[in-house]
Amino acid sequence: MEMPRPDPAVLARKAQLVSRLRTILADDAIIHDEMETRAYECDALTAYKCPPLLAVLPSTTQEVSDVLRVCHDMNVPVVPRGSGTSLAGGALPTADSVILGVARMNDVLETDYPNRVIRVQTGRTNLSVSGAVEEEEFFYAPDPSSQLACAIAGNIAMNSGGAHCLKYGVTTNNLLGVTMVLMDGTVVELGGAHLDAGGLDLLGVICGSEGQLGVVTEATLRILHKPEGARPVLIGFDSNEVAGACVSDIIKSGILPVAIEFMDRPCIRACEAFAKAGYPDCEALLIVEVEGSEAEIAFQLDKIKEIANRHNPVELREAQDADQAARIWLGRKSAFGAMGQINDYMCLDGTIPVSSLPFVLRRIGELSQKFGLEVANVFHAGDGNMHPLILFDANKPGDLETCEAFGAEILKLCVEAGGCLTGEHGVGVEKRDLMLHQYTAGDLDAQLAVKDAFDPRWLLNPAKVFPLAVTEARRVAA
Ligand SMILES: Cc1cc2nc3c(=O)[nH]c(=O)nc-3n(C[C@H](O)[C@H](O)[C@H](O)COP(=O)(O)OP(=O)(O)OC[C@H]3O[C@@H](n4cnc5c(N)ncnc54)[C@H](O)[C@@H]3O)c2cc1C
Repeated sequence: MEMPRPDPAVLARKAQLVSRLRTILADDAIIHDEMETRAYECDALTAYKCPPLLAVLPSTTQEVSDVLRVCHDMNVPVVPRGSGTSLAGGALPTADSVILGVARMNDVLETDYPNRVIRVQTGRTNLSVSGAVEEEEFFYAPDPSSQLACAIAGNIAMNSGGAHCLKYGVTTNNLLGVTMVLMDGTVVELGGAHLDAGGLDLLGVICGSEGQLGVVTEATLRILHKPEGARPVLIGFDSNEVAGACVSDIIKSGILPVAIEFMDRPCIRACEAFAKAGYPDCEALLIVEVEGSEAEIAFQLDKIKEIANRHNPVELREAQDADQAARIWLGRKSAFGAMGQINDYMCLDGTIPVSSLPFVLRRIGELSQKFGLEVANVFHAGDGNMHPLILFDANKPGDLETCEAFGAEILKLCVEAGGCLTGEHGVGVEKRDLMLHQYTAGDLDAQLAVKDAFDPRWLLNPAKVFPLAVTEARRVAA
């Protein structure tokens, strides 16, 4: 296929930008060859693709600041990027933008065990933060399923969570301070190595701001001492509704398990075929994990088993050793890969009050019939963070559009049930046009005013988070 001829004006501008960037960065940190920029054309929401103008890979906060100053000068949009695992299209470029990747900024800057903090460059992957402190029996609690690949930068931007966030909270509950570079190159420090800081809580504004307000280059994170032990129990049910009711009863009882994960039949089948985890053949499965000393574990598990037995489970299996515990988790942890082997899928991320789980699951089943696409449900049930996976065929004309329409209905359902559009994956491009379903125009104006204050020209991560028409009007005005 013949490539379209590049616009000479765009080429001249790109050449000028590259020549200015060469005064800041080493040659191998500037990726401007058209074929090579394709490595950055999408993130994990692969349905949308667009190669950037070019990509840069700075190594220090100073380099990030210098790059941003040049882009600000030349009015070039910038899309910050960690590891590109966003499922919401958060790191998707626009054709006129520079991708600013922090992957080379992955050093540990300081560990302070007595004060339980670690300071890292934000390109460091989530799992390797725990890796850096495991010798002293510490760990970093937020554990997205993508933790082997995703970077602290993306975790902060998306306020990411994971299976164990029921007990330990999401990123915002484990983030103490950041170094951030504003679009005009100004470097700012927010928060610190302490629990709270004076002045406005700008750290709270930055965490979850999806690369809209600044580029985060360093982070101070809370680390915790590892618990003495942990043990999961597997509980099977013959209906989604009963499993949902059991989750509500566990939470209501006052016990705080470290994780409660839910899988429905399509998901159980796919995971079992993929991981051979020994899951029972049933309609719904819960994995409930508790941790602490042996006595604490035994006390909590007795109570959970007593609650589960009231709901007539078809299976109730407590892990007897580390191997059995690992097998119980293996299926759940391979859920996305297992589904991907069978079908194309879109992974949604809505949150609902735990008590409306049975209603929402039933309604998703009805919508699945209406749209003619299957859904597999796997999610962090303890905190109501749902991940319905809609199965579709990317090669079948119209299937993606039907899938998107179906997904929008599910997310609206989450809002109507008293929840919200996103639990942990962020808004990105995926949900930007649903924002007015959750917020009034006044609510949204307050958020836009924050964006205006940090990035008056609307150059940072354009066309994300806010409805597209709003962003376009803002950029023209700027
Ligand atoms: C298989 C799979 C499983 C997943 N499971 C989970 C899960 O359990 N929980 C969960 O929360 N998420 C999950 N995700 C989604 C994703 O991994 C998270 O959103 C993650 O935090 C993204 O990190 P990243 O480094 O890949 O960020 P990217 O995808 O590179 O970027 C994400 C966003 O962060 C912004 N950004 C990146 N770097 C910076 C920076 N330095 N400064 C400011 N903004 C920046 C980007 O502009 C973008 O908006 C999963 C994804 C996959 C593919």
